[in-house]
This record gives sequence, C-alpha cells and structure tokens, in this order.
Amino acid sequence: MTKKPLFDKIAVIGLGLIGSSLCWRVKRDGLAKRIAGHARTAATRAKAMELGFVDSAHDTPAEAARDADLVVLCAPIGANAAIAEEIGPVLKRGAIVSDVGSVKVCVIRDVGPHLPDGVHLVPGHPVAGTEHSGPESGFPELFENRYCILTPPPGADAGAVERVAELWRRAGSNVELMDPHHHDRVLAVTSHLPHLISYTIVGTASDLETQLRREKQDVSDVVETREVIKYSAGGFRDFTRIAASDPVMWRDIFLNNREAVLELLGRFVEDITALQRAIRWGEGETLEAFFTRTRAIRRGVIEMGQAGSFNPAEPEKE
Ligand code: NAP
Repeated sequence: MTKKPLFDKIAVIGLGLIGSSLCWRVKRDGLAKRIAGHARTAATRAKAMELGFVDSAHDTPAEAARDADLVVLCAPIGANAAIAEEIGPVLKRGAIVSDVGSVKVCVIRDVGPHLPDGVHLVPGHPVAGTEHSGPESGFPELFENRYCILTPPPGADAGAVERVAELWRRAGSNVELMDPHHHDRVLAVTSHLPHLISYTIVGTASDLETQLRREKQDVSDVVETREVIKYSAGGFRDFTRIAASDPVMWRDIFLNNREAVLELLGRFVEDITALQRAIRWGEGETLEAFFTRTRAIRRGVIEMGQAGSFNPAEPEKE
C-alpha cells in the first residue's frame, strides 16, 4: 500500500548532490505532492528541470519557498544567512525550515533570527555523500542506511521535529537527535579533520616535485607527480577521493566549525609527533600497539554497517 505524502509542497534551495538526491527520493517515493527548487545559477535550474527532479525551478529562493510546508536549505552553509533573510518574509505560518549542512550551531545562529513567529526551525545533517557535486550527481539511494542527525534548538516544536524525522526515515536514513554543539564536535572528528588531512597530504604530494627539483642536485632523489599518481594504490588514492570534495563547501565547513576543528587538530599534531618520535627512536612496540588499536575502529565501522555504499558507481564518503 503506498503511503500518503508527508508534505503538500517542499522547497529545496540548492540543487547539487544533496539537494538533488533528496528531490529524487521525495519524487520516487511520493513524499511530497510538489517540489519547488532554486539554485544560484540559471544553468543548474535548467538542468534540474531537464533531469526532472523538481516540478518547478525558480529564479529566487523566496519564489520557491512561497506556500511551502517544508523548506530544505541545501546550499553551502555560508549562503544560509542570506537565503534565510530572503525567504523569511514569504514563509507561511506553520512552515518548517530545515537544512542539510555539515555544521549545525551556525545554522541556528544564521537562519533562526530571520524566521518569523510560527515558523519552525529543525536543522538536520544527513551523514552521507560522495566527492561529486552538482545537479547531475544525485541519486535517490544516497541516504539509504545512513544516519541523519537532527539538532533542534531548545524549545523546538515536537510535531515539526517528528515530521522532518519521518521524511528522513522514509528517505532510508536512521534518524538521531543530538545537541548541535555535540554534533559539531563529533563531526569534527569523523569528517572535518579527515578532510583537512586529505587536503594536506594531496597538497604536500603535489608540491613535492617542484620543491625537490629546487633543492636537490641529484635528479634521482626527485619524486615526480607522475609517479605519485601511478603508484597511488598504495594508500594515496583514498586521500585523493576525499580531497576532490567541493572547495566552497569545505571552506564554509572549516570557517564555521573553527573551535572544534582547531581543538582536534591540536590533539592530532600531538599524536602524530608521538608517532614521529617512535619512528625516529625505532620503537616498534609503540607503533604496533597504536596500529592494532586503530584496526579495531575499522571493525566497528563495518559492524555498524557504515563501510559500504548503495551506489556501486560512487564509493561512500562522509
Ligand atoms: P553541491 O553539489 O556543490 O551543490 C550546492 C548547490 O547549492 C548548487 O545547486 C548551487 O547552485 C547551490 N548554491 C550555492 N550557493 C547558493 C546560493 N547563494 N543560493 C542558492 N543556491 C546556492 O553541494 P552539496 O554537496 O549538495 O552540499 C550542499 C550542502 O550539503 C552543504 O551545506 C554541505 O555542508 C551539506 N552536505 C554535503 C555532503 C557531501 O558529502 N557533499 C554531505 C552531507 C551534507 P549552482 O549549481 O547554481 O551554483
């Protein structure tokens, strides 16, 4: 038996990987009667209509959000304040505003003040993704068996929270509620620091040839970029996948989760220095004990069903 739509009209602002995947799922499973979309450029709006994952594409976020029962902000988090300011005046009483941003305290800070009385804010974060972006990268199974974390601010309307939770459950996700500060600390560990490390490693490797050519007399000491790419299966390629993620999205994440990332980075530097010392002093036992402990974490990821992907063409990401 097909279930009833959860919403009459959903507006999705930002039609890239996450926005288009959500639209595809809403369409496929009839979770809303109508989807109105908005993206920054006319090209993306036209592509969304051509692919058919929205029913209408609008030139402004306000036009898309007018009369919507649910508005989901799916643009990079740095754009949220301006979008919220624009849609605030047209939102109908009882409407819900949610989002998918990777940092949560800033959403409450940036979006909350622009919402009129009687409009409910229910921030969310589907912990799912790939390194691809744009309207052509989405697919309806992206959120399948992934966690979606909702971070309602204190005093949030319980009915609105439940409606957003049900949307994500019907999109295939396991929904959890979390304090927004706690979310930002947890994701700094599980997502933000790994991305920063990946960007750094790939950057270091790509600078290597230029730097070594400047310094070394002996050309045989120079590690060429060509070799780094050729032999990347040794581990480097996994970092390159993460480091291919959208630069604007990640700029905004680091600017908006500054404290948690900097705190964690301090700890990381301490730990890597300890490993550096163990290598220098030939302390094999220290290294082996460390690597044994980290192996157990990987087993935990597999046991929690978070190691694979539902899209064979797209390896999993966050
Ligand atoms: P994306 O593929 O790069 O798409 C971003 C979309 O936002 C594009 O349609 C872009 O429009 C639009 N946009 C940018 N600035 C805008 C503005 N000022 N007003 C309206 N639309 C604007 O990004 P994504 O991967 O879907 O990420 C979107 C959000 O999801 C981010 O907040 C991110 O933190 C969160 N998230 C991402 C992942 C992931 O792994 N990718 C996972 C979980 C959560 P144009 O195409 O016209 O430029």
